[in-house]
Amino acid sequence: MDGRLAQWDRAFQAEVRSFLAEKLTPDIRARAARQTGVAAERELGIWWHRTLFERGWIAPAWPVEHGGTGWNAMQRHIFEEECASANAPQLFLGGLQLCGPVIMRFGAPEQKAFFLPKILSGEHYWCQGFSEPGSGSDLASLTTRAVQDGENYVVTGSKIWTTHAHNANWIFMLVRTSTEGRQQAGISFLLSPMDAPGIEVRPIISMSGEHEVNQVFFDGLRVPVANRVGEENQGWAIAKYLLEFERGGSYAAVARALLRDTLIAAQTSDPVDGTRLWDDQSFRRRYAEMDIEITAQSWTEKRVISSLSAGENVGDMMASILKVRGSEVQQAAGELAMRALGELAIPDQRRALSPGSDAPPIGPDFALRHTARFLNDRARSIYGGSNEIQRNIIARSVAGG
Ligand SMILES: Cc1cc2nc3c(=O)[nH]c(=O)nc-3n(C[C@H](O)[C@H](O)[C@H](O)COP(=O)(O)OP(=O)(O)OC[C@H]3O[C@@H](n4cnc5c(N)ncnc54)[C@H](O)[C@@H]3O)c2cc1C
Repeated sequence: MDGRLAQWDRAFQAEVRSFLAEKLTPDIRARAARQTGVAAERELGIWWHRTLFERGWIAPAWPVEHGGTGWNAMQRHIFEEECASANAPQLFLGGLQLCGPVIMRFGAPEQKAFFLPKILSGEHYWCQGFSEPGSGSDLASLTTRAVQDGENYVVTGSKIWTTHAHNANWIFMLVRTSTEGRQQAGISFLLSPMDAPGIEVRPIISMSGEHEVNQVFFDGLRVPVANRVGEENQGWAIAKYLLEFERGGSYAAVARALLRDTLIAAQTSDPVDGTRLWDDQSFRRRYAEMDIEITAQSWTEKRVISSLSAGENVGDMMASILKVRGSEVQQAAGELAMRALGELAIPDQRRALSPGSDAPPIGPDFALRHTARFLNDRARSIYGGSNEIQRNIIARSVAGG
C-alpha cells in the first residue's frame, strides 16, 4: 500500500476541510471541546447529525441505495480523521453504526422503509440494550424474557450500562424467547420506542462524574411482533454481526488530538517557577514514543482501510487487534496528557463542563476536559467487548490459522 494521499484524495480532503471550517464556528468548537464521553451532548449531537444529513454526509459507511455517500474506504477514513482533527462534535452511533446495518441486512422490507430514513435524518436516536447485570462478556446467558401474547411480546427484565438511554427515543435489544437447547438458540432481536409503558431508565453516574450510562428496567413492556428483526430465536447471529461494527473506528485520530493538547500543556511555563515540562528529557522521550505508537496505529488503520478498499476480507482477528491497540493507545495518550497537566488535572471541572454552563474553567482551556476524559477512557478497554475477550479472539485465530 502507498500511504501518500492520491491527488483526488487530497482534493476530497480539501473539500471536507472547507465544509468543516464553514460549519464549525468557534462557538460550536468550544462546545464540542467540552465533550468528555463517547459522544457530544444531546443538542449539539443532534445539530451536527442534521447538518451532516443536509450535506448528504451523515452515513459514509452505508450503501448508496440507503443514503450512503458512495465514498471509498480511504475517503471515509479521511473524513473521520478530518472531523477528529477539527474537533467536530462526535455523534452517538447506536443507529448509524449498529442498528442501521442490522436492519439493512436482516430487516423486513417494511422495517427498512420505516426505520432507515429516520436513522439517517436523526429523528430516531438509538441505544443498545445488550448487556445485563449478569451477562456482559458471556452475553448469551442473558435472561431478559420476552413472552408472546397475541401480536405482542411482553418483556420483563433489565439491561445495564445502556449508553445514552436517557437521550434515546428507541432501543434495540436482545431478549430471551426460548430456554430450550443452547443459550444462543433462544435469543431474539427486538426494537422498542423508549416512551412505551413499562420502561424505566435509571442513571448510573460514572467515576468521571458524568451521566452517560444507565440501567434500563422492563416491566411488562409490550413490543409488537412486527418489531422483531429476523426470525424468532435467530437473534444471536444478528448480535454477532452487529458486534463486528462496534469494534471499528478511528482511534489514532482521537489519540493524536490528545497529543496536541499534551504538547501545548508541556510547553506552557509554570506560572510559579517558570519551568516547562518540555525541557525534561524523560518527558520528551515518552512523548516521542507516544507519537510513534499513534503513528503506527494510524498506519494500521490505513492498511486495513486499504485492504477493505481493495475488496479484501479483513477478518475478525484484525478488528480485534485494532480495538485492543486502539483503546490502549488512546488510554496511554490520556495518561501522558495527565502527566503534562500536573496539578491542573486536580480541580473538579464538572460545573464548567456541563452543557450550557457559563462557569469559567479552572486554569487554561486545554486543562478543562482531560481529567474527565481520562477517567471516561478507562472504559474503552471494557465496552464493545473487553480487551481480554478480544485477545481470546486473536489467540483463537492465531491457533486456528
Ligand atoms: C462505559 C460503558 C458503556 C457501555 N455501553 C453499553 C451499551 O450501550 N449497551 C450494552 O449493551 N452494553 C454496554 N456496556 C457493557 C459492556 O459491553 C460490558 O461491560 C462488557 O462486555 C463486559 O461485560 P461485564 O461488564 O459484564 O464484565 P464481565 O463479563 O463480568 O467481565 C469482568 C472481567 O472479566 C474478564 N473476562 C470475562 N470473561 C473472560 C474470558 N472468557 N476470558 C478472559 N477474561 C474474561 C473481562 O475482560 C473483565 O475484565 C458498556 C460498558 C461500559 C463500561
